[in-house]
Amino acid sequence: MRVIINRNLCGHPAFACEKCFGEFLRLGAYPDRGCMLDVIDDGKPEVTAVITSGPYTRELVITDEIREQVIYDGYMKFADFPFEALEVQPPHGEDIRRIIREYSEQSRTTTE
Ligand SMILES: [Zn+2]
Repeated sequence: MRVIINRNLCGHPAFACEKCFGEFLRLGAYPDRGCMLDVIDDGKPEVTAVITSGPYTRELVITDEIREQVIYDGYMKFADFPFEALEVQPPHGEDIRRIIREYSEQSRTTTE
């Protein structure tokens, strides 16, 4: 399963986004808000988080070894982001619409 996270959508501090994703891993519930943009079934049992923060995107496979730590400590320490990626600005409505539009255009071209 691939979970598409775009922190530019919510503009929250990293710990808030990490907590949200931790709940998802722990409960399997898909929080219908904030920075979780999409959940895609790729046929694999493990969860791959595709995290965008500022201009940076990283992929993190949630293995059994790190799963508990990601739930309780967050993904940022595993995701190898540069320091400046931690700070994201609260988005405006037009930013949110642009990100969602770009995402849907991009996923359309990759599935064709
Ligand atoms: Zn968030």
